[in-house]
Amino acid sequence: MSPVPLRQALRKIPSVDDILSREEILDLLKIHPRAIVVEAVRKGLGRLREEILNGEGLTGPEESLFSFERLISLFQKEIEARVRPRLRRVINATGILIHTNLGRVPLHPAAMEQMVEVAKAYSNLEYDLLLGERGDRYSHVEEILCRLSGAESALVVNNNAGAVLLCLNTISEGREVVISRGELVEIGGGFRIPDVMKRSGAFLKEVGTTNRTHPDDYQKAIGPETALLMKVHTSNFRIMGFTSEVPLNELVRLGKAHHLPVMEDLGSGCFVDLLQYGLEREPTVQETVRTGVDIVTFSGDKLLGGPQAGIILGKKDSLDTIKVNPLARALRIDKLTLAALESTLLLYLDEQRAMQEIPILRILGQNKGQLKTRAKRLLKRLPERVKEEARITLREDVSQVGGGSLPLQELPTVVLAIRPLDLSVNGLGESLRRGEPPVISRIANDELILDMRTVFDEEIPMLAAGIEKTLSKFEYRNPKHETNSNSQI
Ligand SMILES: *Cc1c(COP(=O)(O)O)cnc(C)c1O
Repeated sequence: MSPVPLRQALRKIPSVDDILSREEILDLLKIHPRAIVVEAVRKGLGRLREEILNGEGLTGPEESLFSFERLISLFQKEIEARVRPRLRRVINATGILIHTNLGRVPLHPAAMEQMVEVAKAYSNLEYDLLLGERGDRYSHVEEILCRLSGAESALVVNNNAGAVLLCLNTISEGREVVISRGELVEIGGGFRIPDVMKRSGAFLKEVGTTNRTHPDDYQKAIGPETALLMKVHTSNFRIMGFTSEVPLNELVRLGKAHHLPVMEDLGSGCFVDLLQYGLEREPTVQETVRTGVDIVTFSGDKLLGGPQAGIILGKKDSLDTIKVNPLARALRIDKLTLAALESTLLLYLDEQRAMQEIPILRILGQNKGQLKTRAKRLLKRLPERVKEEARITLREDVSQVGGGSLPLQELPTVVLAIRPLDLSVNGLGESLRRGEPPVISRIANDELILDMRTVFDEEIPMLAAGIEKTLSKFEYRNPKHETNSNSQI
């Protein structure tokens, strides 16, 4: 067969009506809405035209260019892009454990099961089964939160940003909140303490300096307008060197002396002692509550390992006023989140079990041996011809906790580093990212790094298949796709 001349090929592109009258298309119309199929056919034919104009596809025989099988698969891809959920699972090979852009942390199976259970039928979300009357949405997790933390009272809202806003608004609207200059933090995603403070209606009274704040600084700032003394965990940075901060228990003492409530935004919030993982010391939620602080807030989906939520713990009188703030209604937690949160919290009744089973804690606890085994499994699954296409090395590296937690903590890890021979590292990264499932990796020193710490064992076959597909010359390689990021069909 001789190659197809360009003009002739263009003339041979079938019309949309032609396609829609074909019997083979009926199968697609049975499964998908007509409007979607029509749009996909139009787009698919457009792609075919582009391909021809680009000179791709003209090298083979005409039959293969216009084979209906091939066209149908083009249309199917277009349909899929329209009917498939945009929010989907990805493989996190970045080594960042709490990855906000990748959904922070995976849930425990028990939490997922409970979400399904509550989702598929009616539930007692706001119904008291004992009394047969209207109940309280928050009651389901209040007891377990108090039991785990030792707090008098608890409330959960949409997220920790909402929790901080709600507390500040309730306790200090129109009045002053005293806070150290060293703690005016910005968390990612536009959460800045001074801005949240402003929106809450409270006035920021900053004291001390960036690196050093003393009890006396708070003391001197307290006046008739003071409503609250606040501490914020400097989650995602550390001030090093000549520094000094007022510990929470001292601030609590000061608050008591002046009859002022004290609040700490703990940020990540963890019930287990991270020293057990050989990590830097962080005060646990229980220890924080034990200082006698009036209000503590933290996230449900950082080191706690649950769903996105904002947890507020503290003294009953403070929490009672927070609970009746109309803003609490606007920030209320959803029933699926509540189901997942309750299940996650119940796991903490047995700390050993929590540490072994809650995904983020399990990911933290993995040792180098386990990570190396996983890397070897991945390596073993890659066929020889793939290994000829790239230099692949198994070596040690470091992962980060991420999510604004333990910013200086480096976790030893094991990675596969891939340097493709005739594909750019960026091209490889892009191809993996656009695969199914998408693989998110990191690039360092012209190598693609796949960090085994955040990859699950069950993902190894998918990861291997993705690498193979990208690096296999015969199946996939098309030099155009490496440089033109829009040309992927
Ligand atoms: C992460 C964090 C927040 C925001 O919590 P979200 O649950 O993401 O809303 C607020 N304060 C601190 C100190 C944090 O670390």
